[in-house]
Amino acid sequence: MQADNCPRSQATPAIASSAHKSPHMADRRAPPSGATGALARLVLDDDPRQQIRIARSLTSMLMYVVCLGIAEYCLQQDMADRTATRLLQCSMIGWMAVVYGTLRSGLNLRFADPSLTFIQIMAAGGCITIAYAIFAPVRGALLMLLALTLVFGIFNLDRLGRRIYNSCVVIGSGLTMFTLSHFSPATHPPEVETVHFVLTATILPIMGMLSDQLRAIRSRLHAQRDELEAALARIHELATVDELTQLPNRRHAGELFAHMTRHAERKGSPLTVCMLDLDHFKRINDSFGHSAGDAVLVRFAETASASLRDSDVIARWGGEEFLVLLPDSDARQADLTLMRVREALAGQRLLANAEGGTVTFSAGLAQMRAGESPEQALERADFALYRAKSEGRNRSVISG
Ligand code: GH3
Ligand code: MG
Ligand code: MG
Repeated sequence: MQADNCPRSQATPAIASSAHKSPHMADRRAPPSGATGALARLVLDDDPRQQIRIARSLTSMLMYVVCLGIAEYCLQQDMADRTATRLLQCSMIGWMAVVYGTLRSGLNLRFADPSLTFIQIMAAGGCITIAYAIFAPVRGALLMLLALTLVFGIFNLDRLGRRIYNSCVVIGSGLTMFTLSHFSPATHPPEVETVHFVLTATILPIMGMLSDQLRAIRSRLHAQRDELEAALARIHELATVDELTQLPNRRHAGELFAHMTRHAERKGSPLTVCMLDLDHFKRINDSFGHSAGDAVLVRFAETASASLRDSDVIARWGGEEFLVLLPDSDARQADLTLMRVREALAGQRLLANAEGGTVTFSAGLAQMRAGESPEQALERADFALYRAKSEGRNRSVISG
């Protein structure tokens, strides 16, 4: 078996997948189920990213709804021009329908920013500026909406987009205030308009600076999260994978064995454990050097892995010893499997610079008995291996 990311590790999904699940991945919210989930999918979308975009737009539409209410109230109280109010109300309702339709139909995915943040924020800024001109008595309160609009773009609007919004709003509202104070000073006294303009021209850039700081903090957090995930994956690899052969290491092999034992017991299926030891490996090191010995270990691991089924496990037990776990195999079937490995080895030149030297292994096999612990089965496999060595090597012995 290779490292956890190879198909052979599918034999132990519980261990393989749970061990390196990052906190970030674990925190991702599961989609709501039942009636709430169905409603969410109907109003929002099936795609979670589209859901977030639509939900955010619907939240901003709350602001429009409140504005519609305020407009109606101003109209009832005779505080606004009827035609202008109705026109603005219709524009707002139409705009909401266009935005929702674009997001819900997926048309937004054709844009560079599928959240359509810039265009939504610009439209809101325009609406508020027009409302400022129409609803004279409550116009001061409307100014805070200009800042609130910016909050919606904190994370999705880049610095340029925010600067364009700020410039347009400051220039647009400035022109509106100047025009109103010039042509109707009774309802829009120049002193009041000046204060409004100064506030608008200072609050928006300050909010822009705060947004930059928030964005920087968020980027740092993202970078730290990525580093943590990478470190966690590396720690998991170091803890479970043998560096030389990339097979599961002894510690991980113990976990896999325990897991497979439980699985075999539940299923009532056979499981055979095999302890393999390369024959006369010391001679290879002595004759060709330690690095040639390392290369043999790597090629042996590759050749043996390729001869096994995806559900089988091969791990490096230590030195030139390997543990092979064969689920759904009794001792005889396991013996045949190891014969396949031997044949594959015979057809390989494991020693690149060897003068015809072949690499063989001896093996001890133990089929798990009912109620037997992995340790007990390993002990029997070890003893069978000892017998295979003493009976002449390059053979398998089945524990009786
Ligand atoms: P036998 O057939 O009885 O198993 O003989 P052997 O020579 O294989 O057995 P022995 O236990 O005497 O020697 C094993 C050798 O494996 C000794 C050790 O230096 C070598 N070895 C262990 N780990 C590594 C490794 O990671 N790389 C290399 N190149 N050699 C290793
Ligand atoms: Mg040995
Ligand atoms: Mg050996």
